[in-house]
Amino acid sequence: MIPNPGRAQIAARTLTSSICGAMTHDLELNSVGKTYPDGTTAVQDFDLKVEKGEFVAFLGPSGCGKSTTLRMIAGFEEITRGNILIKGRDVSHTPPEKRPTSMIFQNYALFPHMTVRQNIGFGLDIKGLARSEKDRKVERILDMFDLTEFADRKADRLSGGQRQRIALARGLVVEPEILLLDEPLGALDANLRRIIQNELKLLQRELGITFVFVTHAQSEALGLSDRVVVMSNGVVEQISPPEELYRRPATPFVAGFIGSNTVIKGTPAGAAPDGTQQLTTPFGTITGHGLAGADTAVIPAEAFRIAPQGTPGEIRLPGTITARKLVGAVGHLRVRLSDEREIDIETHAAAPEVQTLAPGAGVTLGIDPVAVTLINS
Ligand code: ADP
Repeated sequence: MIPNPGRAQIAARTLTSSICGAMTHDLELNSVGKTYPDGTTAVQDFDLKVEKGEFVAFLGPSGCGKSTTLRMIAGFEEITRGNILIKGRDVSHTPPEKRPTSMIFQNYALFPHMTVRQNIGFGLDIKGLARSEKDRKVERILDMFDLTEFADRKADRLSGGQRQRIALARGLVVEPEILLLDEPLGALDANLRRIIQNELKLLQRELGITFVFVTHAQSEALGLSDRVVVMSNGVVEQISPPEELYRRPATPFVAGFIGSNTVIKGTPAGAAPDGTQQLTTPFGTITGHGLAGADTAVIPAEAFRIAPQGTPGEIRLPGTITARKLVGAVGHLRVRLSDEREIDIETHAAAPEVQTLAPGAGVTLGIDPVAVTLINS
């Protein structure tokens, strides 16, 4: 997408030249809510502050309110509660064309019978730019995205990947402060999707423009963004960097949605001598990271180990192997616990216990307490 980084950098400098210091946040959502006229509450109490140049993803299952929130930021959807600030300016009731945002849609929303050049210039026409100024900007972005040779081709005569680049070029040519992307890779096949994911991340770093990205694909959100907003049913569940989201889920929804976790409920049993919290469960006392009073242990698949001997005092769960699968270096075991539930655990495929354990074998599982998070159910 950016064959010549030097060229992109020059363009980036020009694109971002109007951006001043980061005294205020690029984007601020304060208790933003949306109830549609039919009474559907799509978003509730959404609070978020985004730094300039940050890449933020909205992640959640279909219907959780991601697109509604993005459209409210763009101004395509009226907010019904709260307010939205861009660079400190309240834009809650500003029409979309007056906001310093651009939106990239999943289907790209290109005009099929316009040429690439006309498609890209369209946003500048709306802004009423002088012809010479418009031409200069369009040529520059065509060059940056390596689209010059297609400039006079009709948009419907191009491949999916090329259309995706045109959509991005069209979004960026208006020099937005914030680029809003609504499942922009959804229409691409898996290979192209991977390639464009990488290019998108590079582009975002080069330009230093704030990106807000909507996706229901976990790997996309975790792989691309600086922070992820996990949503469920119109509510923000957690806002964290990908690594923290994975290691320290904050709610039962996130524990179930991200990674592969086992959730065990119990009764809070105070702090351990090392400051970690303890939970009394039907399997014994589980120790983990979390707030005092938390009543649920979240244990990632890789925190379990097969512990035939076990360390004295450590939590040990007896179980029975029900399935075994080796995928590359990782061994996936399915284990039925004494309460009949089945859990998935991960271990090194080369470990002797993975080689020898067959379905039906009895095992004892140990848990690495460092990886356990205690949350409120
Ligand atoms: P997502 O982008 O996470 O899939 P949406 O923001 O599109 O979710 O939708 C959130 C909720 O709002 C859903 O329950 C959806 O059915 C509802 N919704 C979306 N658009 C409208 C509308 N124009 N009128 C009424 N309800 C809507």
